[in-house]
Amino acid sequence: MELWYTEKQTESYGITAKVKETYVHEQTDFQQLAMIETEEFGTMLVLDGMVMTTDKDEFVYHEMVAHPALNTHPNPEQVLVVGGGDGGVVREILKHEKVKRVVLVDIDGKVIEYSKKYLPNIASGLDDERVEVHVNDGFMHIHDHKNEYDVIMVDSTEPVGPAANLFTRGFYQGIYEALKEDGLFVAQTDNPWFKADLIQSVNRDVKEVFPVVRVFWANVPTYPSGLWTFTMGSKQHDPLAVDETAIPERETKYYTPRLHKAAFVLPKFVEDLVK
Ligand code: SAM
Repeated sequence: MELWYTEKQTESYGITAKVKETYVHEQTDFQQLAMIETEEFGTMLVLDGMVMTTDKDEFVYHEMVAHPALNTHPNPEQVLVVGGGDGGVVREILKHEKVKRVVLVDIDGKVIEYSKKYLPNIASGLDDERVEVHVNDGFMHIHDHKNEYDVIMVDSTEPVGPAANLFTRGFYQGIYEALKEDGLFVAQTDNPWFKADLIQSVNRDVKEVFPVVRVFWANVPTYPSGLWTFTMGSKQHDPLAVDETAIPERETKYYTPRLHKAAFVLPKFVEDLVK
């Protein structure tokens, strides 16, 4: 008998992946967690029925959350990751020698535990000496750490359940206050095919808080529509003002210095959303 995992990305559309084995399927204190082995994408982490990351395509998203921001800030020593319990963004951050400290705050310790066990190449950086892992609500953390971070990355689940308040104006104000005077943040901001209104509302809210706001995108095949956006809010530094020829080549598979500015060139229907 064939077994397939289907993610309903809207009420009437989804993706489906043939399953070889189910490693974990449990209700944590915060969400339903599954870790499955798929034919096409390898090991897959699923939270509340939504694909979070897979062995095969994880590098795209994790590189694009980390590198544009860290190549825009001139001296990113103190970095915070809100969410990101699979460790992929942390692994990418550690490729930047200027980073002295990475604080990861994920609300669900089970994500961290199972990612270390079943996604070792993604979670590989979580035990690094520069990394501090906290199991806590990111919303609370940023309000308790004012003027502390150079870069903040929000690698959260969709704005439902535990992440509902991570897409609000109050959260972006809290991020602003947790950043140092020339700090910047980046957040994953979903897809324009099924979540256009979310992209628009986030863009509006971030523009009310930050003077520099830029949207960029990447192709993540296992995420809804495959066209994934990211929103950067900055107190001073503009990602489009970076001299990409000065960006060092690093061990990446999607991001390159040449792609740094190109990622901010949006398809017209997306550009129109964030004008
Ligand atoms: N790349 C994925 C995406 O774009 O949907 C996100 C992956 S990461 C595993 C998402 C993490 O956000 C989960 O581990 C979840 O526990 C965490 N999370 C959700 N709400 C949170 C909150 N309020 N504070 C901290 N972490 C939170």
